[in-house]
Amino acid sequence: MEVLKAKGMLSQHALSEFTVGDLPNNWKWGVFCGLEEIVRLMEGKKIDLWGIPEGTVFRARTAKGIRVPVLTINGSYSEYCIYETPMLGLMCHSSGIATMAARCKKAAGNRLVISFGIRRMHPAICPAIDRAAFIGGCDAVSSLLGAETIGEEPRGTMPHALIIMFGDQRTAFKAFDEIVDKRIPRVALIDTYSDEKEEAIMACESIKKLWGVRLDTPGSRKGSFPELIREVRWEMDIRGYKHVKIIVSGGIDEKVIPSLVAAGADGFGVGTSISNARTIDFAMDIVEKDGRPVAKRGKYGGRKYLFRCDHCLEYEVTTSKEDIPKCPRCQNEMRLAEIPIILDGKRVYEEKSPKEIRAYVLKQLENVELE
Ligand SMILES: [Zn+2]
Repeated sequence: MEVLKAKGMLSQHALSEFTVGDLPNNWKWGVFCGLEEIVRLMEGKKIDLWGIPEGTVFRARTAKGIRVPVLTINGSYSEYCIYETPMLGLMCHSSGIATMAARCKKAAGNRLVISFGIRRMHPAICPAIDRAAFIGGCDAVSSLLGAETIGEEPRGTMPHALIIMFGDQRTAFKAFDEIVDKRIPRVALIDTYSDEKEEAIMACESIKKLWGVRLDTPGSRKGSFPELIREVRWEMDIRGYKHVKIIVSGGIDEKVIPSLVAAGADGFGVGTSISNARTIDFAMDIVEKDGRPVAKRGKYGGRKYLFRCDHCLEYEVTTSKEDIPKCPRCQNEMRLAEIPIILDGKRVYEEKSPKEIRAYVLKQLENVELE
């Protein structure tokens, strides 16, 4: 900025796009997240911003291998030069978390997924983490500020510490049931001192309106987690506690969820696999200067228009808005995927609640596989 200013170049126009070459872990799709914060950061600046709505399931590249521009920004370069880093930080971090949350939710189907990972992250960023986790598909979040941010009630269960402070499980279960607000579902932690099935029965007998039991069994005692879940399910069922749900936590990700679902788990507390998910490494590149195509090595110059097949979630890029491509999978006409977000500094993108964005994500997840 200092150099451009000294050389009288502050008014030079630049059009830039945000793309990512590859998704982490060879993921085939991602969930675009962080846009609302980018809008808050950039509104009022003399720029135009177009892109895919927040919560859109995107791919890194089209079927032909062209990078998918998720956002395109245009204006005097000096209007947005210093915001490249924060814009990227907002979308890279949030999109990584939202994508991992979506993968866990996809694996869990209609079973409960709660974001439990904030205790491993710096408190200053917990609201952003839990917002992205919720948008990606988590049913609830555990941080108070995160829940407030998304306008939801926080969810969680009793800690082992409660049982240890009381010294025995039954007294702790009863005290919890007696004191905690009646609206809060009763979930008893059943792996503190004894075998899980023993403590599960204790919980069923101690709390009249028991909603669920939670297994947070440490790795050193786990053996086969699915077997443990199956056994607890069996022992509760034969005693008439079929309605009591089984929630599991500890080292959960989208790869282990299917075997736990098959064993009878009804819900998951997912920690660091979501909260510490890999970032999606978007980059911003100038592709037009004063209306002429330019690009650094390895990037393609010129303004691009992004199209999508809403059924196959395939993308295509053209150099003209009128050039409507056909989906390589289903051959149907694609739809222009980008929408105007900021025009001449004015926000034109309607704000959506995290709940609405999440619903949009869940709908698209029906059209992708866990690949
Ligand atoms: Zn299609």
